[in-house]
Amino acid sequence: MAVGGPARWFVNVDSAARLCEALDLAHSRKWSVLVLGGGSNLVIDDTGFDGLVLHINLLGLQTNMEGGATAVRVAAGEPFDRVIQRLVGMGLGGVECLSGIPGAAGAAPIQNIGAYGQEICEVVQSVEAVSLETGMTKCFDREACDFSYRNSLFKRDPHWVVTSMTLFLEPSEYGNVSYRDVQRFFSASGTPTTLSAVRDAVLSIRRSKSMVLDPNDPNSRGCGSFFTNPIVEPDVINRLRADTPDVPAYPTQNGRFKLSAGWLIEHAGLKRGTRFGRVGLSPKHALAIINLGGACAKDVVHAASVVRRQVFDQFGVVLVPEPVLVGVALDPM
Ligand code: NAP
Repeated sequence: MAVGGPARWFVNVDSAARLCEALDLAHSRKWSVLVLGGGSNLVIDDTGFDGLVLHINLLGLQTNMEGGATAVRVAAGEPFDRVIQRLVGMGLGGVECLSGIPGAAGAAPIQNIGAYGQEICEVVQSVEAVSLETGMTKCFDREACDFSYRNSLFKRDPHWVVTSMTLFLEPSEYGNVSYRDVQRFFSASGTPTTLSAVRDAVLSIRRSKSMVLDPNDPNSRGCGSFFTNPIVEPDVINRLRADTPDVPAYPTQNGRFKLSAGWLIEHAGLKRGTRFGRVGLSPKHALAIINLGGACAKDVVHAASVVRRQVFDQFGVVLVPEPVLVGVALDPM
């Protein structure tokens, strides 16, 4: 978002040994630790971080054939989209719809990223992580990761530093076209839905919403979606439908429903392009809060607080910020 202040101390973690060394140092000096991946889903206070920032820069991608499928071990610091591009190029399916997501690969299992009909948890075989407290390395199989919608053990219990994930991928000629936007793209273009065509389609759809980081697109100067899509109980849906029959609600596990945060924002009267001083809602997507130029973290937090309050006043639903907030917080509800 191009806001925030400096780190008091900063380590480029480019090896497991460097990670252990840095954690030992932080323990001995009693420094707070902030684990930084790609930095694309983060709002840091304007005063910065008074502790040690560990920039996870572990690189590498190894493949191993297992029967007809391929296990791919991806180091946490690999740029996520570069990984997707390589896997699609290798003819491996299961992740092509995750094209264009910014940030580092290590963040993918933490919030179980998903988009356009695929979620990373569907292809994760295991995740390796180091305990911030003990420095011990542990390997979690998929079940132990306890994935759910945009959530995992690592998000709920942030004392783990993800160092790598291993994906289990099948070869595939064609990509996943289950998502409405992707289907529309192909029915308009009429081209075959090969893996690389689906990747290109997702990139094109994301670009049309300014959801691909691009220095030439000022509407992409944000952290993507600023709020998660709320998962609510059926009684909330019944209450909402009584006033607003057309509210979109998608059934999820355990009889609950997923709402569209972007829809709630727009229908609470905050149109795309709404400005709050130096920060605004993207003209392309109401869920993205963007830096219009010269903003600081407190401008972002103010705008997000106004959005959250307005949605709550209109619908009685509390939006939860998706980015990691460091040293800043939204106004209490
Ligand atoms: P969108 O296409 O406007 O859809 C808004 C919401 O409606 C999303 O939560 C989406 O669910 C849901 N939805 C749409 N069609 C659905 C269907 N047939 N069944 C169930 N749910 C349906 O979303 P957007 O904001 O532009 O985002 C596009 C995609 O990128 C979405 O898949 C979104 O989740 C993803 N995204 C992910 C992250 C992340 O992982 N942190 C951040 C930004 C965007 P799903 O969320 O389940 O797709």
